[in-house]
Amino acid sequence: MAVHSAAHPDHPPRRTAHPRGAGTNAIMTEANPGLAARLETPRHRLAEEPVPAAVAYELIHDELLLDGSARLNLATFVTTWMEPEARTLMAECVDKNMIDKDEYPQTAELEQRCVAILADLWNAPDPDRTLGCSTTGSSEAAMLAGMALKRRWRQRVDDPTRTPNLVMGADVQVCWEKFCRYWEVEPRLVPMQGDRFHLDAESMLPFVDEDTIGVVAVLGSTFDGSYEPVAEICAALDRLAADGGPDVPVHVDGASGAMIAPFLDRELVWDFRLPRVASINTSGHKYGLVYPGVGWVLWRDTDLLPRELIFDVNYLGGHMPTFALNFSRPGAEVVAQYYTFFRLGRAGFTAVQQAARDVATFLAERIEGTGRFRLISRGDELPVFAFAAADDRVDVYAVSRALRERGWLVPAYSFPENRTDLSVLRVVVRNGFGHALAESFLSDLEAAVAELDQETGAPRQSGSGGFHH
Ligand SMILES: *Cc1c(COP(=O)(O)O)cnc(C)c1O
Repeated sequence: MAVHSAAHPDHPPRRTAHPRGAGTNAIMTEANPGLAARLETPRHRLAEEPVPAAVAYELIHDELLLDGSARLNLATFVTTWMEPEARTLMAECVDKNMIDKDEYPQTAELEQRCVAILADLWNAPDPDRTLGCSTTGSSEAAMLAGMALKRRWRQRVDDPTRTPNLVMGADVQVCWEKFCRYWEVEPRLVPMQGDRFHLDAESMLPFVDEDTIGVVAVLGSTFDGSYEPVAEICAALDRLAADGGPDVPVHVDGASGAMIAPFLDRELVWDFRLPRVASINTSGHKYGLVYPGVGWVLWRDTDLLPRELIFDVNYLGGHMPTFALNFSRPGAEVVAQYYTFFRLGRAGFTAVQQAARDVATFLAERIEGTGRFRLISRGDELPVFAFAAADDRVDVYAVSRALRERGWLVPAYSFPENRTDLSVLRVVVRNGFGHALAESFLSDLEAAVAELDQETGAPRQSGSGGFHH
């Protein structure tokens, strides 16, 4: 294959000027003017010939402009902004493979420091006995924690005819239903009831039996940002065990809240201070303030993680214990997590999370103040709140669409079984969403509602296209 040297993938043409957002015009200065206009972007199969790096960059860059502005995305929990220094560090680490701990011992060391920092933040009683690792996110962390629970149950119950079950609220994130399906565990979803939108001690107990591998408590719920009462759930299970019932461990899914509560709710006891809490996960890429994808899972004690789940890998050199679903994985996110810990410290994290909570509670109050909406939560736990229409005249799905026309991404969705009648809008306040943006969001929301009021015959609750948290 003859490849013109300027177009060889190993020698991408260097361009001096790189006008941002200039679109395909920028490529006209290349040696092959008009190439970009003639090119078809590969959709179903590889093209026969390579293209210059600059052309590939520009076309993909332009296509991604359609993705919408992360700043106006109030739907996602995932970090969309990091400091330039963090980006530089990540760029320096893109080629480091996390699994290759012998080749990159320092990256492995930073991972262990992050685990130690989290163990301290989550009040692990004996740091020397705490085990933990990084993952690609809370979903992989949930699979690992769930597997450990299932193994421990299997060690207790040596009877292949019995089916393990996992007890959790109907508000759990989809990763827990995934865990149950992939690992053949019966999901026991405790339904919502009236204005109880998450799991509590009383509603949980009837679902627990000898085959319960664990109870998942969520801090906090993706439906409305509320914290589940972990201490009460643990106390109820303590009583159950003391009365001769099953002794059931608790896993806390702190995907968001395990990075909020240690800074803003220090008096709230939800973590390893509760002896029944066996393991905790969090998403580094949510309120851990790192780009996707990094998560963490920690066990309070080495005894809680069955040894047979840990593999000893030696063919990369050295002997390294690993517990993960993936093998190769980028190290950059782990380095970035260490950067945020180092950079912000306790005071920095507290300030960032407090700012998010302040904006969330301010916005929730103002939305309530319009009189057109009713708050389901107030943004005072996770900086996340949900609100429903105050009366029949507002259709939250239409509001979501109208906001989208103005560039805002605010999902509308209905609650699960038992409360499918309840449809809400949800706002997730993240680092970088300040009071100024909150004010423009409010005026756009008011304008959207006023505009919808004008339209006659708009059907109420016109339905959603489905929404994944
Ligand atoms: C986001 C989330 C998850 C899944 O986390 P990923 O990091 O996206 O895999 C699990 N549980 C809760 C409560 C969440 O908010």
